[in-house]
Amino acid sequence: MTINSIQTRRFDTLIIGAGGGGLRAALQLAEADASVAVVSKVFPTRSHTVAAQGGMNAALANVLPDNWHWHMFDTVKGSDYLGDQDAIEYMCRAAPKVVYELEHFGVPFSRLDNGRIYQRPFGGQSQNFGGEQAARTCAAADRTGHAILHSLYQQNIRARTHFFDEYFAVDLLKDDEGNVLGAFVFDIHTGEEIIIEAKTTLIATGGAGQLFRTTTNALINTGDGMAMALRAGVPLQDMEFFQFHPTGIAGRGMLITEGARGEGGYLVNAMGERLMERYAPKAKDLASRDVVSRAIYTEVKEGRGCGPNKDHVMLKLDHLGEDVLQKRLPGIRQTCITFLGIDPAEQAIPVYPTAHYTMGGIPTDRYGQVVVPVKDTPEEPVNGLYAAGECACVSVHGANRLGGNSLLDILVFGRSAANHIIGYLKENRYHRPMNEASVEKAWQRLHRWDKTGEGESVERIRADLKKSMEDNCGVFRTQEVLDNGIKEVSAIAERLKEARISDHTGMFNTARVEALELENLMDVALATVYSASARTESRGAHSRIDYPERDDKNWMKHSLYSSEGRKLDYKPVRTKPMSVTSFPPRPRVY
Ligand SMILES: Cc1cc2nc3c(=O)[nH]c(=O)nc-3n(C[C@H](O)[C@H](O)[C@H](O)COP(=O)(O)OP(=O)(O)OC[C@H]3O[C@@H](n4cnc5c(N)ncnc54)[C@H](O)[C@@H]3O)c2cc1C
Repeated sequence: MTINSIQTRRFDTLIIGAGGGGLRAALQLAEADASVAVVSKVFPTRSHTVAAQGGMNAALANVLPDNWHWHMFDTVKGSDYLGDQDAIEYMCRAAPKVVYELEHFGVPFSRLDNGRIYQRPFGGQSQNFGGEQAARTCAAADRTGHAILHSLYQQNIRARTHFFDEYFAVDLLKDDEGNVLGAFVFDIHTGEEIIIEAKTTLIATGGAGQLFRTTTNALINTGDGMAMALRAGVPLQDMEFFQFHPTGIAGRGMLITEGARGEGGYLVNAMGERLMERYAPKAKDLASRDVVSRAIYTEVKEGRGCGPNKDHVMLKLDHLGEDVLQKRLPGIRQTCITFLGIDPAEQAIPVYPTAHYTMGGIPTDRYGQVVVPVKDTPEEPVNGLYAAGECACVSVHGANRLGGNSLLDILVFGRSAANHIIGYLKENRYHRPMNEASVEKAWQRLHRWDKTGEGESVERIRADLKKSMEDNCGVFRTQEVLDNGIKEVSAIAERLKEARISDHTGMFNTARVEALELENLMDVALATVYSASARTESRGAHSRIDYPERDDKNWMKHSLYSSEGRKLDYKPVRTKPMSVTSFPPRPRVY
């Protein structure tokens, strides 16, 4: 292999990922006349943002009084005080503007009778710093992500963004000084390899929900960008915090949006009791997600679960009436009819917590710049390297994300990363020479999977990894179980080295993609179990039976996991907002 034997394409910016984060950034850049390449392993409008149901938060005050400062308070509290308050302030202030921009891009938001954008209540939202329930989530029925992604894609086509559809990014490429200069990618259909050289690279590859067996996430959510960053020497931040959504369809994992409870749905146990009254007397079913997930898990563990195996609880929507369901939750209704054979207008839905969202990721500042510890400083930006969306950790979600804040996060920080890149490109006008060894390394990584035939299958190893993560790194954790997780996942990672792909399906590149994805998933799994085992407190989604209390004295800090030596480091939480006073940690009750 020589660099010259591989086709090279040059752009100002390479964006890896065509979800909401990647497309929002691409649009901003294309409109500023930068040449932008977007690489996506699936057709852009199949990116996982399309699955987002309930909506996106912004203090528009269309239904109830609201303002960005209350939104900020709720987000800091929801994060269990681990979120960085400067980034949270930035996001909550920007939210209304970003929603109105979407409206102008053509997003068909649902409407109130007065023509304004419809907003529904979601979990963890309050008026006046912890007072009455707020209604902050802007929705396009229960297909908000679909509406946003399609509008952004159309706008990008208009702005002439260059798309590499169904291309797989294998690894980041560098120059001699270690600066990232693009990526090595291949066409999944033909196998053709391309070096995409870029002055700036934005990783927007989404989350890693495929770490777990029961998940709301699609097969494509394998943490590829996070693993690429790890291999490029960037540590991953706060990987111990993984969100389990309270209402996945029991046994199957598909999501029933929090919007269903926002519209007035509620959870009952086997005795028909409204269980959330016991765990969150004020917010009840609209408490924060970590709180509701733990409540369901506890009901089942204590024998109050429903069904022959007492292994789930029921979500009641039948009292809302067919009209409300059809107008506000048509997708949910259809999902239940298709996959469960029940109509929620008549019957309750069996639900149980399911893996949903990666709070941790590639550390960035609020301009989307990837930041790493350098010598004695907790963080310095890496020249020309950016990340946005679920793969990044800004950190606005801290230890627990509020529903409706992820669509907001991907759009606000996709946009702000693009704005920073525009400035960077003005100062850095020329491409730098590529380091051939980094191309060779990426090429080797791909061609390691040329060998087919004897050896354990990738499918078997992936299934074992997901089972181990579910058993050892779930809703409730202990030292013993987490340490067992480290042992098991490390052993599974060793098996992967000897695995082979089979080409019996005749779809050789698809098999290669699955193998590369599993390598990525494995790196992210190791980051998750190592980080979780080290954090000896309970905070947000990281709930330790052996350390049940939050420990602000020792643990108001972000973890940073490096794959080199599987080592953990820490940096302080940024508790100082941009312009208002801090919200100091308080007991978190709903
Ligand atoms: C079922 C469901 C419902 C949700 N509902 C809501 C909601 O109502 N409100 C809310 O705020 N949040 C919601 N979320 C969360 C939110 O949708 C996601 O966090 C967000 O959409 C992620 O966007 P993203 O741009 O970061 O990544 P994605 O939309 O996941 O896009 C990732 C992109 O990266 C590409 N990619 C990945 N790896 C590679 C590679 N190796 N090579 C090339 N391309 C690659 C993919 O092809 C894709 O284009 C929901 C999540 C789920 C799963």
